Amino acid sequence: MGTKGIEIVDMDVKQLIGLLNKAFSDEWLAYYQYWIGARVVKGPMKEAVIAELTQHAADELRHADMLALRIIQLGGTPVTKPDEWFKHSNCGYDAPDKPFVKDVLDQNIKGEQCAIMTYKSLVNLTMTKDPVTFNVVLQILQDEVEHEEDLQAVREDLDALLMSAQK
Ligand code: MG
Ligand code: FE
Ligand code: FE
Repeated sequence: MGTKGIEIVDMDVKQLIGLLNKAFSDEWLAYYQYWIGARVVKGPMKEAVIAELTQHAADELRHADMLALRIIQLGGTPVTKPDEWFKHSNCGYDAPDKPFVKDVLDQNIKGEQCAIMTYKSLVNLTMTKDPVTFNVVLQILQDEVEHEEDLQAVREDLDALLMSAQK
């Protein structure tokens, strides 16, 4: 931890670390939800869905890394026990126990929408108080917005395909 780097943070650092650890827990759960989803998913357009889920899994893991680095810079400790991810998480975890493409996409769209809300509030909170954390959460928010759009685009294509199959 860097003393001057922490001194310039114009807010309660402990509280900020707590919020970053909640987002960190979300990222690990999102990572696993995508990772396992990419392995069990079934149905039409499976290849396109798997490609998207696999890419997003890698992004969520990278987000966890970005948050861990920032938590450590602020003098905190990233959550060390996986069972605590559930306690801290904002967005929770949806197991892909119904592995049909449509259901898996819907679960992950819901997760992205929760992530967008989480990072929007972190962006608002840090905007004028902590430019370094602001930069981190803004980058992540941009990725989550892209993730939602990617999944909804695949979901639309899938709907069109399912509709034309019914005719
Ligand atoms: Mg994508
Ligand atoms: Fe993420
Ligand atoms: Fe995401």
